[in-house]
Amino acid sequence: MIVCKDLIKIYKVDEENEVMALQGLDLEVEEGELMGIIGSSGSGKSTLLNMLGGLDRPTAGKCLVDGKDLLRLQTKELVSYKLETVGFVWQNNARNIIPYLTAIENVELPMLLKGRHKRERAKEFLELVGMGHRYNNKLTMLSGGEQQRVAIAIALANDPKLLLADEPTGSVDSKTADVVLGVFRELNRSLKKTIVIVSHDTELTKKLDRVVAIRDGKTSSEILRKTYVEEQ
Ligand code: ADP
Ligand code: ADP
Repeated sequence: MIVCKDLIKIYKVDEENEVMALQGLDLEVEEGELMGIIGSSGSGKSTLLNMLGGLDRPTAGKCLVDGKDLLRLQTKELVSYKLETVGFVWQNNARNIIPYLTAIENVELPMLLKGRHKRERAKEFLELVGMGHRYNNKLTMLSGGEQQRVAIAIALANDPKLLLADEPTGSVDSKTADVVLGVFRELNRSLKKTIVIVSHDTELTKKLDRVVAIRDGKTSSEILRKTYVEEQ
């Protein structure tokens, strides 16, 4: 599903400075895998997910996702890749939920963007994440963990092959984290979704099929960060 080779991402900070957030990163993810990528803050986790999700472009290297070459896609192709192939779950739900709408309305929104409006399907996704009984509640009525489960249903709305989760349990307690993780496991098992979860939480990633580490290495130039992925 994912093959990245020598992936490089350089952010230009200003005229003189740049940050190399990914320096020659290699990563392979099989279709149907539930995998974790762990690393401390600043190691490049979000950058990697943003590349895989088509939110930003790598600077150099190779990155194929579901047969698409992310360095070569035209902007228009990248947008449809983002909408059709990937679903995102973040630590902070504020990025993708609308609190004054109900759970089901939130799940229907991304479907509308694609010209589809399927209440039944939205309800199925809410049931899959164990939120079917709360479909008609406004998001403001739900706990953090419940909102996170709705966020997962939103990510599923366009039935993407790949789910990318950035610290999905970062703002819930450990018991709720287990519930959220259980939801990912279930989606991986029953819907055969390929799932990549990045986190700094080593406890979380112990419960996944496979985990690789992304590390922040030191380089001679102070502002450069060397990052690599290795098998644990
Ligand atoms: P993590 O998610 O592991 O905390 P990030 O991918 O957010 O790491 O960041 C990796 C490095 O790249 C950090 O040094 C960060 O400051 C830098 N970085 C990330 N995004 C940008 C950006 N848009 N502009 C400049 N530097 C960035
Ligand atoms: P996380 O908690 O997942 O590591 P961050 O706070 O590092 O998230 O980053 C949140 C977003 O901001 C990411 O999309 C990341 O690429 C971007 N970002 C991180 N560091 C910088 C930076 N120094 N300048 C600009 N954008 C950044």
